[in-house]
Amino acid sequence: MAAETKPKSIGGDSKMKTGLIWFNGHIVPQEEAKVSVLTHALHYGTSVFEGIRAYETPKGPAVFRLKEHVERFFHSAKVMMFELPFTPEQVSEGILSVVRENSYKSCYIRPLAWMGATSLGVNPLPNNPAEVMVAAWEWGTYLGDEAVRKGARLITSSWARFPANVMPGKAKVGGNYVNSALARIEAHQAGADEALLLDKEGFVAEGSGENLFFFKGSTLYVLEHSVNLMGITRDSVITIARDLGYEVRECRATRDQLYMADEVFMVGTAAEVTPVSSLDHRAIGSGQAGEHTMRLRKAYLEAVQGHNPKYGPWLTYVNP
Ligand SMILES: *Cc1c(COP(=O)(O)O)cnc(C)c1O
Repeated sequence: MAAETKPKSIGGDSKMKTGLIWFNGHIVPQEEAKVSVLTHALHYGTSVFEGIRAYETPKGPAVFRLKEHVERFFHSAKVMMFELPFTPEQVSEGILSVVRENSYKSCYIRPLAWMGATSLGVNPLPNNPAEVMVAAWEWGTYLGDEAVRKGARLITSSWARFPANVMPGKAKVGGNYVNSALARIEAHQAGADEALLLDKEGFVAEGSGENLFFFKGSTLYVLEHSVNLMGITRDSVITIARDLGYEVRECRATRDQLYMADEVFMVGTAAEVTPVSSLDHRAIGSGQAGEHTMRLRKAYLEAVQGHNPKYGPWLTYVNP
């Protein structure tokens, strides 16, 4: 097999070019940020991570909801009993420095902490403290521009979202993403843009890396998060929707309830606010990106890009 020389696409329409990486506290070129093949996380999925975006604003690049992301990163580490050899302030500074050092105007940022190569026993704790890195790359729309314009096509996955006593779904743990990867492979093989996962009772859980919302009339329904990751975008969109005067209700939904919804959309740091045009080959509403969804999408993008002073506290400027 010919060696792969080109950088591989990592989703959406972008290529991974990461430039400089914050690696265990130092900024180094990507080629120098290397780990052993005996890394515990590589064998057993023992890593925790975050997905953050920085946006171009009138006052230069700003990281969206940095504090909440760093807080969740440390909470995920706590769930796994990882010791992080850095404080939240140091990791925050690492995140800002990666954006700054790479001179990105906007980018996706990936902090990762993992169990290193000290021991390959299943118990990860001999590998404490964890190793930590922050990479960033320029990344456009996660599911592609077409999915945003026309709406994404979803397929219900045969892989269920794991129950709370199987995996820690509130923590962003590397190993959890085997579930997401299987669902996403299946969706792609079926020609869809994204997978919808149900919980073990058959209620709607979430996408492979996004939370799901729907509209019935102008009431916004938010899925209760018993097994779902508590998305920071979910929280932002709920706040924005309430500020725009929408009634927001939390519910437990079935997939046929989604077939009957007027609008369905997905939210996440990577996916932002992406309309859903069909689920399991059934058009949602008109089969186009919904009006309320696009209104929320616009308001969300205005918030992250620093065009609405009301949401100013959510931004951390890279060059204050
Ligand atoms: C990260 C993630 C989300 C989205 O969370 P945000 O904080 O909005 O980026 C949703 N579901 C899963 C499974 C995730 O890992």
